[in-house]
Parts: sequence; C-alpha cells; structure tokens
Amino acid sequence: MVGWNPAEMARTRMVKLIKPKKRKSPRQRQITKLDKLVGELIRLKHKHTCERCGRGAPRQLHVHHFHGRRNHSVRWEVNNLFLLCSLCHKLDRNSAHESPYDFMNWAKSVRGEDWYDQLLVRKNMIVKMDYDFMEYVLKKQINELRDE
Ligand SMILES: [Zn+2]
Repeated sequence: MVGWNPAEMARTRMVKLIKPKKRKSPRQRQITKLDKLVGELIRLKHKHTCERCGRGAPRQLHVHHFHGRRNHSVRWEVNNLFLLCSLCHKLDRNSAHESPYDFMNWAKSVRGEDWYDQLLVRKNMIVKMDYDFMEYVLKKQINELRDE
C-alpha cells in the first residue's frame, strides 16, 4: 500500500509531479524583449547574411556577442554583435566559439583596432541600464534601417 506522500507517488509513477512554471520577472521579460529587438536589428543591418562567410540562410543565422551576454553594458550594442551562420558561430573548428582567439583577430581585421579598444572600454563600464530607453533606441534604429 502506497501512502499519500507525493514524492513516493511520483517515484512509483502513480502520479506525475507537475512543476509550477517559472514566471519571468518583469526585468527578465524586458531583457528578452531587448534581445529579440537587437536580433531583428542586426539581421536587418547585415541583410540576413553571415558577416564572416557571406552565407545567407535566415533560419540558421545567429547573433554572436563578442563580449558575452552577461555584459549588459554592451549586450544590446550593435558594435558588440556579429551576425553569423551556425557554422561560423559554433560548429566549425574555426568558429567564434571554438576558436575565440582567431575570431578576435578576424573581428579586429574587419572592424579595426579602434573598434576593439572602444568596445572594451564600453564593456568595462559600470552602467545602470535604462531598459525602456534601450527599447526606444533599438526600435528607432530598426525603423531607420527599414526606411532605407
Ligand atoms: Zn558563416
């Protein structure tokens, strides 16, 4: 006889334990929204084409963050982002994630040493993000690209 202990019931598969869905905080929701907007912006900016190899397959294009996403100071900064196909992003041996050092050198050769230095300064800034303002800026940039 199995008791009415939920864990025991789950173990014996009499019932499935249903985990409550984690609710996103307003801040997390805002961050997700900004990620989507900047993804749209970067795809428009680079005309749905991989910056490294020129492949154009919209579904397989990824937004690569030169400085990782934990750096909110540059997370939605176009200068920190690259539009890459899945091969150039993660799959190839020479991809951004597999060979970060090679990728950095390539990025410097394309965008310049000044780009690298200035981005590094921005990345290391301690900022208090104004998410609403960031949303406004991204939408404005998207609309400007759409109008071109
Ligand atoms: Zn590529």
